[in-house]
Amino acid sequence: MTGRPGLRLGTRAVHAGLDPAGNLGAVSAPIYQSATFLAADTADLMAINSGAKRGYVYSRIRNPTVLAAEQRVAALEEAQSCVLFSSGMAAIAGALAPFLKAGDDLVALPDIYGGTAKYFREVLPAQGVNVIWAEGIDAGLVAAALTSRTKVIFAETPTNPLLRIVDLPALGAVARSAGSKLVVDGTLGSPMNQLPLQLGADLVVHSASKYLNGHGDLILGAVCGSRDLTRDVRGLQQTTGAIVDAHAAWLLMRGMATYALRMRQHNSSGQAVAEFLAAQLKVARVLYPGLPDHPHHALATRQMSGFGGLLSFEMHSPEAARAVVDGTRLFGIGPSVGGVESLISQPGNTSHFSVPVDRRRAMGLSDMLVRISVGIEDVADLIDDLAQALEAAPS
Ligand SMILES: *Cc1c(COP(=O)(O)O)cnc(C)c1O
Repeated sequence: MTGRPGLRLGTRAVHAGLDPAGNLGAVSAPIYQSATFLAADTADLMAINSGAKRGYVYSRIRNPTVLAAEQRVAALEEAQSCVLFSSGMAAIAGALAPFLKAGDDLVALPDIYGGTAKYFREVLPAQGVNVIWAEGIDAGLVAAALTSRTKVIFAETPTNPLLRIVDLPALGAVARSAGSKLVVDGTLGSPMNQLPLQLGADLVVHSASKYLNGHGDLILGAVCGSRDLTRDVRGLQQTTGAIVDAHAAWLLMRGMATYALRMRQHNSSGQAVAEFLAAQLKVARVLYPGLPDHPHHALATRQMSGFGGLLSFEMHSPEAARAVVDGTRLFGIGPSVGGVESLISQPGNTSHFSVPVDRRRAMGLSDMLVRISVGIEDVADLIDDLAQALEAAPS
């Protein structure tokens, strides 16, 4: 409850969603592991069902622990409201479903998460939704893709794995003038570094499996926005059922308590690792919005206050890229980002494995590319490890 926007992010991350006075003084949100909640009598049940009284009936409809976690995510995102989903993908599907029906157009920016691209290529068209891919991420190219049937524009920033930055205020203006909604996947930017709702987005979606939970032990998603829009999202979720279990919601709350601390470390270590790699002869180029020579650095500093732990770099050959990935000892080889532990991968073999090779090439995604998720280990150890892996790799 103490998630008032007046309080700073680190405080909201600890206090939002807690109600010790209403829960025997418990300093941790109780886990209401209950499917059904009993009414005092029929009048009480009717009052809850009609919305006249706030209460609980059945956990697919509303659960106190899930509600507490939703309040914490909303407080971080400075949103009126949040709806949690059983995964980031369920959140994306859940954020779009109320606003797209057969015959409508969705305009998608080209650089989006592989799973989302698969959903747009395979699922939405089968439901009669026409997916139009913008030629690029610039607002002008997105505007050129709009039709009179465009109901939603979908963007992600920063993009993965190329760390491009989408100009959200410009895209918000395009969406407003076309009367369509702008839905932004804010997973990689994360609320400490960017607040899409303040930059022109109507809804922001998250894979809470990444920075929000941060511990690599949970799959969850979130949709945040105005009370008006999230009411439609929740209404459909109560019917389709992709809800969150109380115990998972509690784990997310615990993960989020340290969100500000973790994120500060991701930001500072991400910058340090990027600067180290940029100075290495065996590294052809580094993609990190916090570097002054990044093509979108100026835009990034306008709409972000930190640049996170995700970065990519290109080696001079696919063999060298593979050697660095296999040569690290502290970095786990695997997909995902935003956890306490550092990970490394060649996106073509992991996050973008499901993207056809010709589309990968068109996206600018080469086999020389290596992606890193910088965790919260001591950054000197991470840099030492990368140094020895680079030393052993061909040039
Ligand atoms: C991981 C991820 C998703 C999907 O989230 P899940 O929790 O794995 O379903 C969506 N978007 C981005 C940017 C992601 O990194």
